[in-house]
Amino acid sequence: MVSGNPARLTVLSGPSGVGKGTVVAEVRRRHPDVWLSVSVTTRRPRPGEADGVHYHFLDDAEFDRLIATDGLLEWAEYAGNRYGTPVAPLRERLAAGAPALLEIELQGARQVRARAPEAQLVFLAPPSWAELVSRLAGRGSEPAAAQERRLALAQAELDASGEFDVVVVNDDVARAADELVGLLTAPVPRPV
Ligand code: ADP
Ligand code: 5GP
Repeated sequence: MVSGNPARLTVLSGPSGVGKGTVVAEVRRRHPDVWLSVSVTTRRPRPGEADGVHYHFLDDAEFDRLIATDGLLEWAEYAGNRYGTPVAPLRERLAAGAPALLEIELQGARQVRARAPEAQLVFLAPPSWAELVSRLAGRGSEPAAAQERRLALAQAELDASGEFDVVVVNDDVARAADELVGLLTAPVPRPV
């Protein structure tokens, strides 16, 4: 699929509310050349989210069509909505030799590992459970029931952090962004 390519593919995962979006925004502010895949989703846009920027917002039939035409590198259902990574722009980007970053949840990260074993899998972890709960509530983007649902999933995601190549603790946005930049720009290991 995307294997055998010299450019590095990095996957960033971690529980909802840990700060993935915040840390990635900081990385891109410092390194605009880091390319971030824009996922497709059946979730409705949050206030301030723009179609084609934060996500491509699709209806169920459009999402089904992408699956049927093998247009997604991976996809998963998460908290009642579907999310997926369009494969064509990612292939193009890696072929151009630029580092590429996917910000996706656990089931998707596992699919990437299976289809592109050379990908680097990074887990963003909270400094503590209490801090995760407080960040998710503090963001205020979901009603309480949806936050509960995301926290239930978060526990399973934290349990799977050992499956990742690297764990970055998001104690401080600037520090976590530094660490992620180092991982994104590290030389691609030579195949053995
Ligand atoms: P995710 O993309 O993982 O769901 P967000 O980036 O939306 O998470 O962050 C969730 C909330 O936590 C936001 O309100 C954000 O401002 C806050 N946040 C992110 N990183 C930190 C940090 N290192 N320290 C304190 N608050 C943070
Ligand atoms: P949110 O609804 O908060 O934007 O995203 C919910 C979860 O879906 C987050 O963990 C986010 O990383 C994940 N996600 C976003 N895009 C994709 C994708 O393309 N594939 C998968 N598997 N997960 C995604």
